[in-house]
Amino acid sequence: MRFQLETHHRNIPDEELIEDLLRVAKEGGKNKVTIDEYNERGRFHNTTLTRRFGSWLKALEKAGLEKTRNLNISNEELFENLVEVWTNLGKQPKYSDLTKEVSQYSSATYEKRFGTWRKALEAFVNWVNEGTLPEIRTNSPQKSKRATPRNINWRLRAMVLMKDGAKCKLCGATPQDGAKLHVDHIIPWARGGETVLDNLQILCEKCNIGKSDIDPNDFTNKSAERL
Ligand SMILES: [Zn+2]
Repeated sequence: MRFQLETHHRNIPDEELIEDLLRVAKEGGKNKVTIDEYNERGRFHNTTLTRRFGSWLKALEKAGLEKTRNLNISNEELFENLVEVWTNLGKQPKYSDLTKEVSQYSSATYEKRFGTWRKALEAFVNWVNEGTLPEIRTNSPQKSKRATPRNINWRLRAMVLMKDGAKCKLCGATPQDGAKLHVDHIIPWARGGETVLDNLQILCEKCNIGKSDIDPNDFTNKSAERL
């Protein structure tokens, strides 16, 4: 449910994010904060900071803290990072593509975890494919009778990316053209469209906003769906 968290934290000023990071460092009595430590004690999720500042290391730098890498990275986090790198590059990342500018983790981290880069990519694809079925809420006590949650999880994002390629379905723009890609509900969730592969597509920010003018309600949520 990381995306839900993030949707509420989009308009927080940079200073407030940095302040919170510094607070966590101070409480820990250290001049550094790992991602795990921050997620445990911070007011926001680490992705809110990494997205705002570009990477975890850049957020630490901005706060004047010591740069530290997360030692307990889960496979899930490694895969989510791959989805992000893949989207930003506009193509399947190669070993040499995982630079500090685009990736939170180095290729070596993947190699260490999975044996080889190739095996890391295979594990990633397996992880994506395991998510073929949408998360159907069967015994949800909520009033909503929707079968799927509105938020699009990382795995589903990766599947849309593999289906459409990292380019806008409408105008064909890619990250290489400077386009920011979003995952879009073809039939808006607010109008009954479900969060399933068939109802999702990749749109660039421009096309997405154009489309969303028709449905301002949907737009509010869309900005949170940036890949
Ligand atoms: Zn477009």
